[in-house]
Amino acid sequence: ESAAPKGRVPFIAGNWKMNLDHLQAIAFVQKLAWTLKDANHDFRDVEVAVFPPFTDLRSVQTLISADKLELKFGGQDVSQHESGAYTGEISGAFLAALEAEYVIIGHSERRQYHGESDEIVAAKVAAALKHGLVPVICVGETAEDLEKYGPSAVPVSQLKAALNGAAPDANIVVAYEPVWAIGSGQAATPEQAQQVAGALRALLGEVLSAEAAEATRILYGGSVKANNIAGFLRETDVDGALVGGASLDLKEFSSIAQFR
Ligand code: PGA
Repeated sequence: ESAAPKGRVPFIAGNWKMNLDHLQAIAFVQKLAWTLKDANHDFRDVEVAVFPPFTDLRSVQTLISADKLELKFGGQDVSQHESGAYTGEISGAFLAALEAEYVIIGHSERRQYHGESDEIVAAKVAAALKHGLVPVICVGETAEDLEKYGPSAVPVSQLKAALNGAAPDANIVVAYEPVWAIGSGQAATPEQAQQVAGALRALLGEVLSAEAAEATRILYGGSVKANNIAGFLRETDVDGALVGGASLDLKEFSSIAQFR
């Protein structure tokens, strides 16, 4: 099995959330790079990225560039605003200046604890794209949504809203993360992930373009571990994983990146 059948390079992304300060981040990234090097990891075969807290990003960037690491990195959020009187916000321009390639947008924790609506998520996606960052757009239903609307309705409507105004060739990553699976130890089954990922890809064809639908990587997230990653990647429309808890465990995360 290789990247070839789907034509999309698998993507393993570690969402650190509010964990690891900049000193811990340097140590972790260094060890991760060594571990993957020891395992002869080919980054053209499986792309790997970390998403540390904002205060870590400069340290991580310096390390990656000094040691010429092939590891990618990004922010966990971005402001929808350009600059100015927005205390506490981080602009897309700042992340781009730091050579971040990606930014997570609309994570369920942002939606839930910071009141991020579909409109805010769409504005953040636009801000990221404007600065050449690749937004990792998170969508997913709660257990209640699942019961009420079935598996795909909420994630599909969230993605549709997030892409409002995006160009047909927008360079994005989509992360399907059922809220009930995040941090619960109760991952979706590969079949469940595929069902929603398939519906999300169909939507990309409708609102962006056939080319974008084909090229866009759709990740699964929610209690991904070394022992369940391979099953997700076997599915037609699942191209990788957004990993939370397990991304903080060096051994676990490197095994996930080495899922083959
Ligand atoms: P988890 O988190 O892997 O700890 O379930 C995933 C996420 O929230 O991105």
